[in-house]
Amino acid sequence: LSGFAADLGGTKIAAARIEGGAVAERLQTATDGAADPDAQVEAIGALLDRLGHRHGAPLGVAVAGRVDAAGCWHAVNRGILAAIDAVPLGEKLGRAFGGGTALNDADSAALAEGLFGAGRESDSFAYLTVSTGVGGGLVLGNRLISSGNGMAGHVGFVSSRHASGPCGSGRRGTVESIAGGRAIAAAAAAAGQDVADARAVFAAADAGASWAERIVDASAGAVATLIGDLAAILGTDTVALGGSIGLAPGYLDRVGHALGAEPALFRPRLVPAALGHDAPLIGALAARLGKDT
Ligand code: ADP
Repeated sequence: LSGFAADLGGTKIAAARIEGGAVAERLQTATDGAADPDAQVEAIGALLDRLGHRHGAPLGVAVAGRVDAAGCWHAVNRGILAAIDAVPLGEKLGRAFGGGTALNDADSAALAEGLFGAGRESDSFAYLTVSTGVGGGLVLGNRLISSGNGMAGHVGFVSSRHASGPCGSGRRGTVESIAGGRAIAAAAAAAGQDVADARAVFAAADAGASWAERIVDASAGAVATLIGDLAAILGTDTVALGGSIGLAPGYLDRVGHALGAEPALFRPRLVPAALGHDAPLIGALAARLGKDT
């Protein structure tokens, strides 16, 4: 697997030159959430130029939001990418770079983990990213589950019996609305705590503050219930957790503890994501080239 990849998220744009299935060189810049689509593609292009990309070289691009079967890119959470609405991204990549496959960033990471990482041995694999929000991707028999509208696999937007608040998607009572970083920070503020972000809530929980442990356990509990639901729907046998919260020390153990309340059939193997922040980059190129290239 050799070529180029980019990963455009809510906070950063990363790009890489990939050789033999591994990241050989990686560059990163901050995302301008208000920038228009052409400016976003230009920002990707600036990184690719520095990495030595030539017109027509293999390129995969992972983006926050959904990408439909026609290669159109839509923000799901307009609070994060304000100007992205039905953008013909496939066409733009063709014009700017001589080709390129675009897909959702969590799907892309799921594909990489499923083919080469934590889900290699699995035939029904789910990747969950717990970060600012909660995203995911589903890989069955080495194939990413996808739908024409690009929504398949957005598992953070399913309803949770633990939740009732609003979420970035516009739905209420979703897993994301209680488990994501934004939700964790909001819960701390609602509890009258003066903390900056989810990371600070985790630090307080580590220091033994019971208010913070309750909030982190509520997040972990909602993720565990989601995992049980995935086992029921898809026969999921392995779940990998990624994202800064998913990989935060102690979080996987809390999810595992909550999952312990489920009957055995609803308790897939739970493991940390193996490819870290390279996963979306590697998966995007794999989507472009196929796993054996
Ligand atoms: P993104 O959402 O842009 O993909 P991340 O996966 O880094 O980015 O997730 C960002 C969220 O993770 C924020 O809510 C942040 O407060 C939280 N976070 C970052 N580092 C840690 C950490 N070490 N422990 C717990 N939470 C963290």
